Amino acid sequence: VDQMGLKIYCNGVFVPEEEAKVSVFDHGFLYGDGIFEGIRAYHGRVFKLDEHLKRLYESAKSIRLTIGITKDQMQEIILETLRRNGLKDAYIRLVVSRGKGDLGLDPNKCPQAAIYCIADQIKLFEQSTYEHGLAVKTVAIRRNNPDTLSPRIKSLNYLNNILAKIEANLSGAMEGVLLNQEGYVTEGTGDNIFIYRNGVLMTPPRSVGILEGVTRNSTLEIASEMGIKVSEELFTRHDLYTADECFLTGTAAELIPVIDVDGREIGDGVPGPIFKQLLAEFRALTLINGPKIYSVESATAR
Ligand code: PMP
Repeated sequence: VDQMGLKIYCNGVFVPEEEAKVSVFDHGFLYGDGIFEGIRAYHGRVFKLDEHLKRLYESAKSIRLTIGITKDQMQEIILETLRRNGLKDAYIRLVVSRGKGDLGLDPNKCPQAAIYCIADQIKLFEQSTYEHGLAVKTVAIRRNNPDTLSPRIKSLNYLNNILAKIEANLSGAMEGVLLNQEGYVTEGTGDNIFIYRNGVLMTPPRSVGILEGVTRNSTLEIASEMGIKVSEELFTRHDLYTADECFLTGTAAELIPVIDVDGREIGDGVPGPIFKQLLAEFRALTLINGPKIYSVESATAR
């Protein structure tokens, strides 16, 4: 992307980033009333786009938000945002808010959802983090209870995650891991968690209160295909501390190894063989999965 800045999709039009504005009466801003997705494009393809759109529309359904356009139209907005910015490898942020209303919280006062799409160059994690792993901390703040605000909704209300990140930052850990009210491990502030223990790859079940990550589901699929035993089951901090391997999954992070939890060294303190195999398979999948940003004709015409 050149000095001209990004072109942002803002409610039906593409505008330069300086002109991409959100109303102070937008309920996404006033109340966190809205939903979003973080998506990645690799080598000219949008990875797992159908899965991201499915989750977006399920989040909308859950909060009774009428997006007002079809998934196909939303897909075209994403592809066009990438084209207008000349991006083939990118991080895409799609936001749908309840839109403009009055100062009260009633969503009935918001006649029209607002749709924003931002695509930017991906800020990669340091290569050294993939090679050496990172330290995480289980934080005091608990993950939102599914009965109050379900973590399965990818909502604009991320304060729970941000409070966890603040705690992790203060402790010097790179990422925080949240437990639920019962003390079971849920997820990181912006990523899901896996452990490899006694020959089984484990990740917490949806019911523990997590965002059902697209990368999480890809990892489970890849592991099964590789013949690794997988299990979605509850586990505690003790299981984390005594795991042979641990890693986090997310769109931005892909798969990232964890070598220390609360000062307990994981395995040998270096990324393990299961992690390495899964990351390699995951990266291979990014080469072939998802709709192409440019059709063959337009790509050669460029
Ligand atoms: N959990 C939370 C709380 C997240 O914000 C994210 C990032 N979207 C994830 C997990 C990972 O999900 P995905 O693999 O779909 O990016």
